[in-house]
Amino acid sequence: MEIKPISSSSKGNGYLLSDSQTTVLIECGISLKELKRKTNFVVPGDIVACLCTHFHNDHSKSLKDILNAGVDCYALKEVFEVKGINNHHRAKCIENEKRFDIGTFNIMPLKMYHDVPCVGFLIRSSYTNEKLLFATDTYMIKYAINGLDYIMIEANYDIDLVEDNAQKERLIKSHMSIETTIDYLKSIDLKNIKKIYLMHLSSRHSNEDDFKKRVQATTGKQVVVCKE
Ligand SMILES: [Zn+2]
Ligand SMILES: [Zn+2]
Repeated sequence: MEIKPISSSSKGNGYLLSDSQTTVLIECGISLKELKRKTNFVVPGDIVACLCTHFHNDHSKSLKDILNAGVDCYALKEVFEVKGINNHHRAKCIENEKRFDIGTFNIMPLKMYHDVPCVGFLIRSSYTNEKLLFATDTYMIKYAINGLDYIMIEANYDIDLVEDNAQKERLIKSHMSIETTIDYLKSIDLKNIKKIYLMHLSSRHSNEDDFKKRVQATTGKQVVVCKE
């Protein structure tokens, strides 16, 4: 699998995933123009589908444009409702734990814990036989998933860097702290892991180098911090 982070922050998220047979976009929180500029992709054509975790704009900004450009988009029904997308033939409603296929990818939506309905994805390629977990905008992951090859996981904040109490309260119920991220990684079997991607770092409440070092030290794996 090839993973290409295009953008990763509360300003906009977008990640490309390819197994050389199928290429999908995960999250469409950047404009179609920016996506084309940053990837040199032709849309549709180069991307067969888009997976969107939830309706917050930093994950769904260009959903309508991408649908209208002729790309199938997969998301919870709430996402299409909030975006005012009714009966678009390319809008595909997904549900927690109901698998579906896109080309050579088999995808299982996983329940996430955010302040609005949100899913993560367990994606398996039948071509490379590799497995990826994608989990963001959640304060916890309830699934113990072993045998993964890649992990893309949120590491939003370090509680010690959050000063405002109201903000603290909001964050602990909606986003993943670096402590929770590390605890989760420690709880699963990392034997086959080739790379860990840290996503959605808060600009104010995170420290990129520190997060990377801590995850590397705990897991012994290669760690990539996804940036803008
Ligand atoms: Zn977000
Ligand atoms: Zn969100």
